[in-house]
Amino acid sequence: MSAKKTETVMDKIVSLCKRRGYVYPSSEIYGGLGSCWDYGPLGAELKRNVKTFWWDAMTNRRNDVEGIDASILMHPEVWKTSGHIDEFTDPLVDCKTCKGRFRADKLEECRCPKKPSKTPLECGGELTEARQFNLMFKTFMGPVEDASNTTYLRPETAQGIYVNFLNVKNSSRQKIPFGIAQIGKAFRNEITPGNFIFRTREFEQMEMQFFIHPDEDEKWFEYWREQRWAWYEALGIKMDKLRWHEHASDELAHYAKAAYDIEYEYPFGWQELEGVHNRTDFDLTRHMEATGKDMRYFDERFTEKFLPYIIETSAGCDRTLLTILVDGYDEVEVKGDKRVFLRLSPKVAPIKAAVFPLVKKDGMPEYAKKVYQELKKRFKVFYDEAGAVGRRYARMDEAGCPFCVTVDGQTLEDDTMTVRDRDSMEQTRMNTAELLALLDEKVNG
Ligand code: ATP
Repeated sequence: MSAKKTETVMDKIVSLCKRRGYVYPSSEIYGGLGSCWDYGPLGAELKRNVKTFWWDAMTNRRNDVEGIDASILMHPEVWKTSGHIDEFTDPLVDCKTCKGRFRADKLEECRCPKKPSKTPLECGGELTEARQFNLMFKTFMGPVEDASNTTYLRPETAQGIYVNFLNVKNSSRQKIPFGIAQIGKAFRNEITPGNFIFRTREFEQMEMQFFIHPDEDEKWFEYWREQRWAWYEALGIKMDKLRWHEHASDELAHYAKAAYDIEYEYPFGWQELEGVHNRTDFDLTRHMEATGKDMRYFDERFTEKFLPYIIETSAGCDRTLLTILVDGYDEVEVKGDKRVFLRLSPKVAPIKAAVFPLVKKDGMPEYAKKVYQELKKRFKVFYDEAGAVGRRYARMDEAGCPFCVTVDGQTLEDDTMTVRDRDSMEQTRMNTAELLALLDEKVNG
């Protein structure tokens, strides 16, 4: 009997993402580039919405966090000071049999290149002793490629915030406690990337560093843990799929006094989605020592100058996207057919509503196009008149669109259309003004 490979949920999500224009393999016509992915029309829109949702919650809706956008290339000394040149390493092992290379502390996540159904622990190959491998990508600044021109693609966005602490404090006139937020690309030469967009070598981070008096670190640490938990709830993630993981003392990074990860239960197990860290004054102390710039803080409320402690919230944007896609993926039997629904929250769904004429005649397309143009002024919407209406619904369900609007015979008489809710499947008749109010509530409310 031939062993037919069963399609996993991850396989299905990867293929849905390609089919619907969420995520494509990078440079695909050249055979792809390991663990690099491109966001298609729907993926780019979803990503932009996630970033806006984060940016609004972390900066615009608050008055104590400022946003910045620092450059990816930074002075190479930054990475010496931060400890990345010496310590930003993962343990690497080689397999003497297949020559595969694996991250020694994540062997259970790796696949043997010769026997992909097995991990390197199970395939029978002999592994070397672990050695430390630095994850930073090196490059050269300017036309001469030598050691004095070596620079790095940033492996985290946080350092761009620390080196701008004084600039932001002075130009924004914020007083402690206050934070600096940033969204941007980071690069890590991961030994074993994988699980689609979960672990890649180029990714985006959404990070916020909150500067506080050292006596208040525990209070703010708890505060930001609550805020970040609530953010995923507001994003519509199933809360029973999330949990906290506290770092034990042997897990803590060299800079951290306390760290908790928010973990999600992916089809490949519980994994980190975001970290909340108490970084103490480690980073500012190091930068102050390296540059001689006084990073201490003082205002009239305090008796002496002090170096602020930092509470960091560090989320992966691509990993949040994967979480949203996995969390929203659903298969339902409809009249004997298996149908796929992508249950994305209207807040981040790339397409907020689709407008259909029931049939391509009797003035329905003209009316539907007018509604489409009206909605388009405020929301990303889609017009579709191709094929049976049931198939149009199915296409939009799979693409994650929360509402489908159908113009039918009655519309021409009383200006109401049916609005179908993807998740409840309920159909309600309403006019354009009511539809706009509904979308406004669901998308922006
Ligand atoms: P891991 O243990 O998974 O390698 P980490 O503890 O090194 O992650 P952090 O340095 O705390 O991760 O980075 C903060 C966030 O950035 C992570 O929670 C994750 O969402 C995201 N992130 C880190 N590395 C990657 C990567 N290679 N690909 C995609 N996202 C990443």
